[in-house]
Amino acid sequence: MTESAPPNDLPTTQQEPAPLADVRHTIAVGAGKGGVGKSTVAVLAAVGLARRGFRVGLLDADVYGPSLPKLTGTEGCHLGLDERGRVRPAEADGLKLVSMGHLIDPNQAVIWRGPMAQKYVKEFLDRTNWGGLDYLLVDLPPGTGDIPLTLAQSFPLTGAVVVSTPQPVALQDAVRALRMYQKLGVEPLGIVENMSYYLCPHCGHRDEIFSHGGAAKAAQELGVPFLGAIPLNVALRAAGDAGRPAATFAEVEPYVMEALNDFVERLRGAVEAQGRKRMPLPQIPPGR
Ligand code: ADP
Repeated sequence: MTESAPPNDLPTTQQEPAPLADVRHTIAVGAGKGGVGKSTVAVLAAVGLARRGFRVGLLDADVYGPSLPKLTGTEGCHLGLDERGRVRPAEADGLKLVSMGHLIDPNQAVIWRGPMAQKYVKEFLDRTNWGGLDYLLVDLPPGTGDIPLTLAQSFPLTGAVVVSTPQPVALQDAVRALRMYQKLGVEPLGIVENMSYYLCPHCGHRDEIFSHGGAAKAAQELGVPFLGAIPLNVALRAAGDAGRPAATFAEVEPYVMEALNDFVERLRGAVEAQGRKRMPLPQIPPGR
C-alpha cells in the first residue's frame, strides 16, 4: 500500500510566524471510537462559544475522515492564501474552519502514515492565519492509536474533551482515550455524553436508547469534570446533514438548547479552571 500524495496547494513561505500565537485556548476534541458524534460535538461547542461572543475556529485534524466541511456546509470551499502565504480559513456562520477536506476531493481516500498526517496537521497549525481566536477546537481522529497520539503531541493544548455515548463499550474506549491524554500531559477538560437520551417530539416519551448516565459516572471515577449530556435529536442530525452549524442552537427545541448551553458553560468553566491552575495566584507573603 502506498501513501497518498500530499495535496499540493499549500506552497511554502519563507517567513513563518509563531504557531498559534494569536489563539488563546486550543482544545482537542477526541473520542475512544468513531461514530459517537465527536465532530458534531466539536461544532456544537464552537457554535455555542461563538454565540457568547467569542472568536472561534475549528481545525479538522481527523485527516482520515474529515467531516467538518460537510457539517458546516463548506464542502468544495478552496482555502486561499493571504499576502504572506498563510492559509485563509473557510468561514461558516461566523466560525473559521480549516480541514483536509478543503484540500482533497471528499471521495478520495487518504492513505497516510502517522508522520505524514502529523506533518500536514502541523502545516495547518503553523501556517493558518486565524486572525485572532479565543478558542480553537481541534477535531482529532478517534481512538488511542498511533495517529491521534502523535497528533495530540504536535501542538500546545489547553486540554482535551472526550466525547462518548453512554454505552459501556463506548465508555470503555473513552476512558482509555482520556488516560492517553493524561499520559501525554494533556489536561482532561472532561467527558461529554452525546446521544444521552431521546425525547419523542410527539408524545414526550423519553427513551435511553444507548443507556444513560455512564459518562457522568466515568468522569466521577476518573476525577475529571462531567461536561453534560446532549440528547439524540432529529434537528441536530438535520442541521449536520444540511451543513448549517448555527441551526444546531437556533432551530432546536428549548430542552435541546438548554442541554447545549449547559455543555458550553461547563466546557468554559473547565477551560477557565485549567487556566487558573496554569497561572496560580501569586502568593502574598504574610504580614503585608
Ligand atoms: P464522529 O465524528 O464521532 O464520527 P459525527 O459527529 O460525524 O461522529 O456524527 C455521526 C452522525 O451522527 C452524524 O450524522 C451526526 O449528524 C449524527 N449525530 C451526532 N450527534 C447527534 C445527536 N446528538 N443527535 C442526532 N444526531 C447526532
